[in-house]
Amino acid sequence: MTRLAILGSTGSIGTQALDVVSAHPDMFEVEVLTAHSNYELLIEQARKYKPNAIVVTDERSYKLVKEALLLLPIKVFYGEDALVEVVKWDTVDTVVAAIVGFAGLSSTMAAVKAGKRVALANKETLVVAGELVMRAAIESRASIIPVDSEHSAIFQCLVGENMDKIEKIILTASGGPFLGRKPNYLVNVKASHALQHPNWTMGAKITIDSATLMNKGLEMIEAKWLFGLKNEQIDVVIHPQSIIHSMVQFVDGSIKAQMGLPDMKLPIQYAIAFPQRIDNTYKRLDFKEFSKLTFEEPDYKTFKNLALAKTAMFKGGNMPCVMNAANELVVHSFLQNRISFIEMSDAIEDAMNKVGYIEHPTMEDYIESDKEARIYAAEIVKQSQLSSH
Ligand code: NDP
Ligand code: MG
Repeated sequence: MTRLAILGSTGSIGTQALDVVSAHPDMFEVEVLTAHSNYELLIEQARKYKPNAIVVTDERSYKLVKEALLLLPIKVFYGEDALVEVVKWDTVDTVVAAIVGFAGLSSTMAAVKAGKRVALANKETLVVAGELVMRAAIESRASIIPVDSEHSAIFQCLVGENMDKIEKIILTASGGPFLGRKPNYLVNVKASHALQHPNWTMGAKITIDSATLMNKGLEMIEAKWLFGLKNEQIDVVIHPQSIIHSMVQFVDGSIKAQMGLPDMKLPIQYAIAFPQRIDNTYKRLDFKEFSKLTFEEPDYKTFKNLALAKTAMFKGGNMPCVMNAANELVVHSFLQNRISFIEMSDAIEDAMNKVGYIEHPTMEDYIESDKEARIYAAEIVKQSQLSSH
């Protein structure tokens, strides 16, 4: 039995992780569930999966959950400090890190430091503090297994291989709902439009990141740390069908690809069952339904966020953290129609230019850079036409 702590259990990844648990009750047991504001779903999940403990980080929701579960033998805790504590428990084998954004950093880091197996969905953790997180993992002997589909693909391609035989990795990107569009079209797109992803159903933040291609930028940095790669070894190719989830090219020119229908339950299941590969009954890929798999170069000029992320990756230090913080703030504002699609890149670039560069940041530096970047990005949001109306 693998005892799981699922952080962010009410989210897109969290709920799908619970679906995997339901399909394999003989293999997985839920020890801890955590959520922020969706108390109704959390209460339902607690009644169904009977975890030993749950953590709620939104205060009002915490009170409601505590009251609703009063008669059940489930410990209910409040706040980020509790989040950091529960992941260290001896009764937790694997932590599914599926909180969205910078908010997931402290709990993921705590799980890594405690030497847990971490099924990592929260890519922002590695974007912000990849160097510190990977160093902590080596010290504590924690294993980090990727949930992100591209990284799961690469991880699967690397089983049985030597890391020093990798020539490069090729991350595939669907291109999102605005593939092929130019800036004159993008100026007018609204959040409701950007939320329509062609191939995947995901949380709101990552769906916007997919539309701007920031998601692929974050994934480049995530890959760099996960697999210990040089910046030059990371390539991106647009593959609109999302059948090849990513590839590894080896020193002899041979390329391995991992394929399947786009369904996040596969990489989630792979990460929590690893090193086993377990069965399921999900729909299989039929090549006859996909007679054409196509590939093209990303449009870095139109989708400026991808170029900015690449710049941040090459600059290193606190730059990816700054970029990530500004991005989180503008995506939130875009979802509220307070900044336009195109202006999001301007705000990120502005923050990257204004926050002081730190070559070897400490955790405190990251926390400070994150705060500063949000202040600069908020300034640009305030100046937006959309905010002043
Ligand atoms: P969702 O927005 O669907 O879910 C986010 C989860 O985090 C929810 O449980 C939410 O709680 C919780 N949460 C939000 N804010 C906080 C906070 N401040 N403190 C604690 N918990 C919080 O996101 P996704 O599931 O889509 O994504 C989760 C992570 O996985 C992201 O980092 C994303 O990039 C990554 N990922 C997601 C993929 C997907 O297919 N969805 C694919 C690959 C990676 P509540 O809802 O109760 O407020
Ligand atoms: Mg991905």
